[in-house]
Amino acid sequence: MSEMQSLRFLRDVVLYIGLKALLTEYAVRREGMRARLIARDQTSKMNVAINMARQTSIGIEEYIWRTAKDRRVVGTPGGLWPEGNAMHGNHYKREGKTYRWDNPPHDGHPGWPINCRCYPEPVLDPDKLRSAA
Ligand SMILES: [Zn+2]
Repeated sequence: MSEMQSLRFLRDVVLYIGLKALLTEYAVRREGMRARLIARDQTSKMNVAINMARQTSIGIEEYIWRTAKDRRVVGTPGGLWPEGNAMHGNHYKREGKTYRWDNPPHDGHPGWPINCRCYPEPVLDPDKLRSAA
């Protein structure tokens, strides 16, 4: 990672921590489910943005969709939400499949849809990885 990349990453981390603290404070003040839901959603979206920036900046173009593998995953047969919908696709069917950072599904990358607990496992291609030196 170059010095510039390190500085950008550090800046992103500082912004992230500050935003997370603000969102936590907001959630405590407002109390109730809605504020917590918004805070969780915004934090998750921030995580997605940081993951995408970090991975693409070093040449990672693809990721494997990973779910929490429990009954709360949307689309899980016999689970809490066996069908996907327009706002939240069928994430159960995406488990283990490869996606590109520059071509997200209709509801976004893992962790973007509200209450999504999925995450992107980076696909490491040595030929495409940029040197960290
Ligand atoms: Zn999900």
